[in-house]
Amino acid sequence: MTTKPPSGYDFVPAYMGISTFMHCEHSRDLATADFAILGVPFDSGAASWRSGTRFGPRTIRENSMQIWGHNRHLKITPKEEFRIIDYGDVAVDPTHIGRAAEAITTTALDILNSNTQLLTLGGDHSITFPLLRAHTEKYGTPAVIHFDSHTDTYQGLGDELEHGNPFFLAMKHGYIDPEAYIQVGIRGPQSEPDELEEAESIGARVVTIEECFELGMKDLGALIRQHVGDRQLYISLDIDALDPAYAPGTGTPEVGGFTSFQMLTLLRSLRGLNIMGADLVEVNPHYDAGAMTAILAANLAFELLCLMGVNKR
Ligand code: MN
Ligand code: MN
Repeated sequence: MTTKPPSGYDFVPAYMGISTFMHCEHSRDLATADFAILGVPFDSGAASWRSGTRFGPRTIRENSMQIWGHNRHLKITPKEEFRIIDYGDVAVDPTHIGRAAEAITTTALDILNSNTQLLTLGGDHSITFPLLRAHTEKYGTPAVIHFDSHTDTYQGLGDELEHGNPFFLAMKHGYIDPEAYIQVGIRGPQSEPDELEEAESIGARVVTIEECFELGMKDLGALIRQHVGDRQLYISLDIDALDPAYAPGTGTPEVGGFTSFQMLTLLRSLRGLNIMGADLVEVNPHYDAGAMTAILAANLAFELLCLMGVNKR
């Protein structure tokens, strides 16, 4: 449902109204909601370089308002088929990552326990750990597709959560199915020579960007589908999986990544998988140019929403 401004003018242009994701109603009434968009304006886990992703959710919302609603590729108009609410943001404590993570899990579980599926906008990538915790509690341990230029399975910090290790910690706590965890788009200079082996040692299937481009998007999509099968699935998309030429607005950009079109193609190829949750993280408006990263992120979030909609039918 779209909240129309009280103008009497029937058509709602993109610039009109309060910014919610795709003009969805801002509501916390979960009783009849099929999907909730949730913002997590948290960047205290961005220990490695530039902060600012706390402004990601608001900017993605604003730039999502020009998305008209029908997905020609996935043949779905999610807002017409489902009740989609913009739940607003998790009240995260920027001074305490443990408390922030608790708040994220609690809020996510409130939503999931009402049988409302969740699409979350970050925030830095540390937020995926408490999100996977909530999804595991609700649905059982999910398969995970993780788009990123970084492995985010760093083990050197032990149990201290930050945006370089959410998938290590999630695997350690049983929030990821070790048989069905795939990292896609990995590249760039490494902090340790054995970073990829470290990821593989906990069960990740690491698909480097070289392998992605050698396969092409069609075969890459097939490889991903084969790895996760028909398991219950969570998708986590770090915007830095895309090339900084397309997504400069991020904290830790790595050159040599996916184009916008390649990522759109790849996501659309995942149609029919059993996706029950997704997030899109690491959008940092401070380093954006003409909102190109936020516009891209909004469109990728729309694709994720459409994939979830197709699955929920
Ligand atoms: Mn990354
Ligand atoms: Mn990441």
